[in-house]
Amino acid sequence: MHAILLKPGREKSLLNKHPWIFSGAVAQVRGDPAPGETVEVRSAAGNFLAWAACSPVSNIRARVWSWRREDEVTPALLRARLESALALRRALVPPAETSALRLVHAESDGLPGLVVDRYNEVLVIQCLTAGADYWRDTLVSLLIELTGLETVYERSDVDVRRLEGLEERAGLLRGKPVQSPLRVQENGLNFYVDTAAGHKTGFYLDQRRNRQRVRELAAGRSFLNCFAYSGGFSAYALAGGATDVLSVDSSADALALGKRNLEANGFSNAEATWLEEDVFHTLRGLRDRGRSFDAVILDPPKFAPTAAQAERAARGYKDINLLALKLLRPGGLLFTFSCSGGISADLFQKIVAGAALDAGVNARIVERLEQGADHPVALNFPEGAYLKGLVLEVNP
Ligand code: SAH
Repeated sequence: MHAILLKPGREKSLLNKHPWIFSGAVAQVRGDPAPGETVEVRSAAGNFLAWAACSPVSNIRARVWSWRREDEVTPALLRARLESALALRRALVPPAETSALRLVHAESDGLPGLVVDRYNEVLVIQCLTAGADYWRDTLVSLLIELTGLETVYERSDVDVRRLEGLEERAGLLRGKPVQSPLRVQENGLNFYVDTAAGHKTGFYLDQRRNRQRVRELAAGRSFLNCFAYSGGFSAYALAGGATDVLSVDSSADALALGKRNLEANGFSNAEATWLEEDVFHTLRGLRDRGRSFDAVILDPPKFAPTAAQAERAARGYKDINLLALKLLRPGGLLFTFSCSGGISADLFQKIVAGAALDAGVNARIVERLEQGADHPVALNFPEGAYLKGLVLEVNP
């Protein structure tokens, strides 16, 4: 059996059930584990700590599958993990109004590196790590058996795979070719999703609950939706009685889908304006023209994937938040988000507070938002909590 021996004193995070083993903690690798193969992790004293998937070239050298010696990594163990992930979703997301959801959220479901999203009858998977890649065929067969679905599409075309020494990969794995775009339902609204070419696996499923909050608070307000992608927040705002929505994104494909999404929900393009532009530029232009709104949404891409980029990212977040705060009418709402793993909720709040100070406005937090319940956070893996949002009420 291949094994990883830790340096003295480096077993602490494993005893706390954190699933990552960094290369700096490793004293020795015994045997010759192939990428993704299972290794036994032992303390310097030689005690069993965990079974993990080896990532020979990654700075995260191994990721834990299980902490019990008797839970060796077998298809039976993976099946149990998948069963528990699926049971949780059945309990959390009623299928009557929502046909698009995350079924497996990697480490937080005990399946490091594996993401599985469901869009109607189609499963879209991402294998982000060597371990998930190694077990891919087994995982796909188990998913088909446990869900009763037949079609599995892979979207492992993500640059984090390079850190694992893996090539990007995408395409149909099982079943019939996937219709593009697919029309799904979310909270009773209709959305077209391009599972082959869209961002992530096609849709930002993590914002489902927050989009619903926007709908509940939208009545009578004019909206500016920045980083709109395919108009998710725009459709919910109009569904909640917003008077009009200006949606901004730099991707023409995303906006084209956005227009279709509003039509699919019966909204006319009279209530909606679309702008293909850099948001940083748009916000300055709107300020210079003296425009104002009753609500602004800021849902930018990850400015800081890791803590190393946090400082530069902080400047980006401050800039857009400052500009957005100045565009709000008295009593206006700012829905502001960060999905950067490198920016904590605390730091994000401080950045937004700094923006309000410099904007010279009075702003108070009326609500805190986070990723939806189908993106759970294992308590031993706080890194899983990546999406944070604030709803601010703003006055001069
Ligand atoms: N709010 C969306 C998800 C936003 S994802 C939803 O709920 O579905 C971030 C979006 O920002 C992407 O669509 C990307 O195309 C866009 N984007 C990235 N950088 C941008 C920039 N500088 N200006 C405008 N849009 C940008």
